[in-house]
Amino acid sequence: MSYVKNLECLKCGKTYPAMPDSYTCPSCGSEGILDVIYDYKAISANVSKEKLKNNQNYSMWRYLPWMPIIPETIPPLRVGWTPVYNAERLADVIGLKTLYVKDDGLNPTASLKDRASAVAVAKAVETGADTIACSSTGNAASSLAGNAASVGLKSYIFVPGRAPEGKIAQLLVFGATVVSVQGSYEDAFKLSAEAIDRWGWYNRNAGINPYMVEGKKTVSMELCEQLNWHVPDWIVLSVGDGCTIGGAWKGLVDLYETGFIDRLPKVLGVQAEGCCPITTAFVNNEPIRPSEENTLADSIAVGVPRNPDKALRAIRDSHGTMINVSDTQILEAMRLLGSTTGVFGEPAGVTGLAGIQKAVAEGIIDQDESVAFVVTGNGLKDVQNAIRAVSEPIKVPPDMDLLVKALSERG
Ligand SMILES: *Cc1c(COP(=O)(O)O)cnc(C)c1O
Ligand SMILES: [Zn+2]
Repeated sequence: MSYVKNLECLKCGKTYPAMPDSYTCPSCGSEGILDVIYDYKAISANVSKEKLKNNQNYSMWRYLPWMPIIPETIPPLRVGWTPVYNAERLADVIGLKTLYVKDDGLNPTASLKDRASAVAVAKAVETGADTIACSSTGNAASSLAGNAASVGLKSYIFVPGRAPEGKIAQLLVFGATVVSVQGSYEDAFKLSAEAIDRWGWYNRNAGINPYMVEGKKTVSMELCEQLNWHVPDWIVLSVGDGCTIGGAWKGLVDLYETGFIDRLPKVLGVQAEGCCPITTAFVNNEPIRPSEENTLADSIAVGVPRNPDKALRAIRDSHGTMINVSDTQILEAMRLLGSTTGVFGEPAGVTGLAGIQKAVAEGIIDQDESVAFVVTGNGLKDVQNAIRAVSEPIKVPPDMDLLVKALSERG
C-alpha cells in the first residue's frame, strides 16, 4: 500500500499526481523541482517502531511505507543497512565526545548513490521502459549501471572526461553504453538531457527526477534506527548537486512527522573550496552562481548544482550551515579516517569528516555535541588520489638485515 499523496513543486506549490515518469514542474520548467508528499497520519497509524524492529528485511526497503515504490518493482541488489561505527579514537583526535561513522561505501556498487539508483530502476520498470540513462560525475552512473544490469535494463551513461578509472571500469563491467563527454560535468549533463529527450529513455538525473531523494533519504532513516532512535546533534554530508543532503533531511523530517524521532538534528553541508556554489549561495544569501570545478573530490565537483533548493532547505530548516574544505584537508581526512577506523573513503566520501574537523576548530560544532557523518563512497573507486594522500611503502630486498635497517630509519 502506498502512502504517497502527490508531487508538489518547491517553487510554485502546485501539486500533481505522482506518475512514475513525472520529472520537474510543468509550469516552472527545469527550475521547478518536485517533492513527494506523503500521508504522514496514515503512515503513523500503520507503522510502529515495534513493527519495524520485527522486520527481517535488512536493506533500504524496510522503509517502504515512506517510499513511492511498488514492491513488485524492487531490484534484487542488496542496497542499504550499511554499518554505523562509534568511532572513539577518531573522536578523540578531533576533540569530540561522540562521533558516528556510517559507511555507505559498503553498498553493492560502493557508494550511497545505490539508494537512488535502485529507486530509479524500480520506477523505470514501473513505466515499462527498457532503457535508463543519466549523466553523472561517476557514482550515480556506476550505481545506475549495476542496478539496471540486475533487472536486465539497458543503460546509457554520460560522464565527464575526468571521471576516475575505477568508476569507468564498473560501468563497462556492468554492460552500460558509456559516453565520455570531453568537457565538464555541466557539458555531460546537457548532452544527456538532449539524448534522453531524443530517444525517450527513463531519466535518472537527480536534479530532475523527484524520486531520487526518496531513495537517498533512507540513509538517515537507517542511521536513526541503528542509533536506537537517538538523534545526534549534527548530521554531516558532502554536497555536490545537493540531492544527497536534501534526501538525508527528507528522511529525518519523515521520521519526525510520523513520530519515530522526537527532535531533528542540525545539518552541516561540506563542499570543496575549488567548487562551492551552494556554500557561496548560502553564506551570502544569494541565488546560485555557476562555479569552476576545481577539486580532486570528483563526486562533488558540480559547478552548476541541479538540486540546490532541497539542499538549502535542509540547511536552513535544520538551523545548520555550509562550510568549505581544501583538497589538502580532504586527503588528510582520508588518511585519518582510514588509520583510526579501518574505513576507506573516496575523496568526496571523506569530505564530511574534513568539514567536521574544521567546524570543531571554528567552534561551529561544540565539543560536547554528538556528530554523525556518512562516508558516501568507497576509496577503492579512486586509488590514484588515495595514493596522493599517503606515504610510500618501505621498499627492501628480501633480506632481514636490510629490513631492520629500513625500519629503524623510518623510526
Ligand atoms: C554524489 C556524491 C556526493 C554528493 O551528492 P549530491 O547529491 O551530488 O550532493 C557525495 N559523495 C559521493 C561519494 C557521491 O557520489
Ligand atoms: Zn512549479
